[in-house]
Amino acid sequence: MKRITSMATLAAVLSVSGCATDGSFDANKAMAVGIGVAQAVTLDEDSVKHTASLAAKEMDGKNQVAGSGSAYAQRLAQITAGLQNYKGMKFDFKVYMAPEINAFAMADGTVRVYSGLMDAMPDDQVLAVIGHEIGHVYHKHSFEQMQQKILTDSAMQAAVSVGGVVGDLTQGQLGQLAYVAVNAQFSQQDELESDEFAVKMLHNMGKDPYSMKRAIATLEAKYGSGSSFLSSHPSNKDRIKRIQKAIDRL
Ligand SMILES: [Zn+2]
Repeated sequence: MKRITSMATLAAVLSVSGCATDGSFDANKAMAVGIGVAQAVTLDEDSVKHTASLAAKEMDGKNQVAGSGSAYAQRLAQITAGLQNYKGMKFDFKVYMAPEINAFAMADGTVRVYSGLMDAMPDDQVLAVIGHEIGHVYHKHSFEQMQQKILTDSAMQAAVSVGGVVGDLTQGQLGQLAYVAVNAQFSQQDELESDEFAVKMLHNMGKDPYSMKRAIATLEAKYGSGSSFLSSHPSNKDRIKRIQKAIDRL
């Protein structure tokens, strides 16, 4: 969890979806480090989702969550109306009162939006960013990311039993998993896929799919390309182009 102390730091760590995109995810890496042939190289999805919800609880405990009656929580509830159940998935949306321009999602449908992001953009653009995060859950990027972390961390591997079920993890380990979600590093392909998901989601909701483009433009205009969300992998230009193509296909 990064704390912002200055605008310069802000620019350095800015990541709308915690989506640093250096293409570092390698599905084979987990297999390469291995947890033994006898054990699963893929984890049980429900078990990972359960672990994600525990990690989310741990993360919520460390952050100031906007109370349900607060202006931020009410605004987010309004923005996400109808998304608590979407495409067979359940989502839980909450606001963290913190200046980061960030939002993140976990495999269990936890979505957290920082008040800094809500201050930076109008409702339609916040919804676009949330659509992007939901895309990471829908396409199982969030699941794969947590799975990879568990399979490549020797201490966490020890908690995995036959069948790929994740056993008890310590609070510290749950915190580590949450940290990985907050500072998510997805591949370029995953980012583009999530952008496209957001475009379709906006369209399906009867909202303007161009909000996805505008969200990126807002961040670029306000914060330059110093953010991991906006700087290369994929470049803004590529990203905007792909978003436009997705809109054209609607
Ligand atoms: Zn992303």
